Amino acid sequence: MITIALSKGRIFEETVPLLAAAGIVPSEDPESSRKLILATNREDVRLVIVRATDVPTYVQYGAADLGIAGYDVLLEHGGVGLYQPLDLAIAKCRLMVAVREGFDYFAAVKQGARLRVATKYVESAREHFAKKGVHVDLIKLYGSMELAPLVGLADAIVDLVSTGGTLLANQLEAVEHVQDVSSRLVVNQASLKLKRAGVQPIIDAFASASAHHHD
Ligand code: ADP
Ligand code: MG
Repeated sequence: MITIALSKGRIFEETVPLLAAAGIVPSEDPESSRKLILATNREDVRLVIVRATDVPTYVQYGAADLGIAGYDVLLEHGGVGLYQPLDLAIAKCRLMVAVREGFDYFAAVKQGARLRVATKYVESAREHFAKKGVHVDLIKLYGSMELAPLVGLADAIVDLVSTGGTLLANQLEAVEHVQDVSSRLVVNQASLKLKRAGVQPIIDAFASASAHHHD
């Protein structure tokens, strides 16, 4: 049995065509099903539906052989025990520093002010501000980062941006690029050795499907 860990939402939606290219069709839609283990048209392949941030953990410990995770999530996890053969170029977005409209981020940085930054991405944020020589106090949040500058919890946030619509709706603006993000295939290193006959064809099919997708 080969187990693939996926999260619901945009990553699942953009993964369906890649699975199809590997001859794998889920038997149910995770958005409407309440099942956490989904069968597929292939008797030897199943999907487990987990929180996006938990995908690397399932694969690291071999509870799933393969998984698809955002690079944002992989940077926070650290990638221990994971083979990362492919950038699938799906679920593309950018990790950005954002502030309230009217807050002069660059002036504050220039003055050497100590900034309070709220984020789910503390590792990426720590590295970014250290590289820039900006002094920050990081506040870990688990969601709705956009709220933090509006209620005085933080001067800035580090969050994912794609269209910028959420920032705009909350009168925030992106001021600095941290990292380009897309989703990657991750593979358990032991699975790759011990289940190669089953795992390698899936990697290959994903590779050619995501390459075609971008030609
Ligand atoms: P959760 O709500 O569980 O934190 P999301 O569905 O918001 O998860 O995000 C899951 C993954 O999708 C993220 O780790 C990221 O890689 C990607 N992602 C998040 N936001 C965007 C976006 N605006 N555009 C494209 N991809 C995104
Ligand atoms: Mg979200």
